[in-house]
Amino acid sequence: MHRTAFVWDDKYLNYSFPGDHPFKSIRESRAKKYMEERGFFHVVEMVKPDEPDESLLLSVHSADYVDFVKSMSVLGEGLLDYGDTPAFKGVYESALIRVMGSVTGVRLLSRGFDHAVNVGGGLHHAQRRSASGFCVFNDVAIAALEGKKYFNKVAIVDVDGHHGDGTQALLYDDPDVLKISLHMYHRGFFPGSGDVNETGEGEGKGYTVNVPLPPGTGDDAYLYTFENVVLPLLQRFRPNLIIIQEGGDSHFDDPLVELKLSTRGYLSLIRKLHEFSHSQGNGKILLLGGGGYNYDATARTWVVSVAELAGIEEQEVESLHDCCLTSSSPFVMERVKEVVKRVKEVHGIP
Ligand SMILES: [Zn+2]
Ligand SMILES: [Zn+2]
Repeated sequence: MHRTAFVWDDKYLNYSFPGDHPFKSIRESRAKKYMEERGFFHVVEMVKPDEPDESLLLSVHSADYVDFVKSMSVLGEGLLDYGDTPAFKGVYESALIRVMGSVTGVRLLSRGFDHAVNVGGGLHHAQRRSASGFCVFNDVAIAALEGKKYFNKVAIVDVDGHHGDGTQALLYDDPDVLKISLHMYHRGFFPGSGDVNETGEGEGKGYTVNVPLPPGTGDDAYLYTFENVVLPLLQRFRPNLIIIQEGGDSHFDDPLVELKLSTRGYLSLIRKLHEFSHSQGNGKILLLGGGGYNYDATARTWVVSVAELAGIEEQEVESLHDCCLTSSSPFVMERVKEVVKRVKEVHGIP
């Protein structure tokens, strides 16, 4: 019914920045542990990523940048961008294996799986010629291009707390990939882009959708944007593949982002996309990870989402949930409604 693959390689754990850097792969290992403890892998099939293929990187990154990461990977020190993303020994190989995980997920969907999960993916800030925001290679954009080969029309729904700026920039003129990013938007907040008026260029005009949310946005307001913007856009676009970037840093306990999603809110979003894909499309979903700096909340968020896709009973993951849905203050709710109104106007949503 919901044949689900979990793409995993222990080498994912090597992609973990040293010292007190906030990006740690304990998120991925803990998610896998929670799944093992609950018997997920009797239902979900664990699959290794395909062999590393450097040519995939060149579909979105410049050859100079790929060579630069390789040399820094040997050196094992220095920076891959202007300050957030340090090099470490083996960074090239560990970033490439995560890209392979997302690409493999797409290929599995073309071979009979309904859903594929790569919690090691979702590195949405990486740019053509640079790392950014802890992301070395942009597996989201690369997976979308791979997805076009099998599914023609791909939608990316990015619910990370930060704007999916790299994905947007790499596919800005592509009308076959609908890019929807919901994120916190606030003066001085990384990466600074993602306003409503960024809508794409050339043939891709109108296929980039940004929903900039104020700090304090809770489950109720977030779900309101889904009902009023995300689902109508998907209904209009009719994708044959939905890629979800599920960064866990929109969670209320995240130390870097001031959005207020609970695990129950995240689950509601995933469920809406899941129901949409089966009722109005072919059901193909690639679920990726992303940011997330409260490691346990991020792992729990991912696991309840995998349970939803794989059709695992809710009671199996009840102990991983936050107590309840969160609500937004009246002030924040009003601001979110204004954002939704603007997005509807700009994108012609009735
Ligand atoms: Zn399903
Ligand atoms: Zn993020």
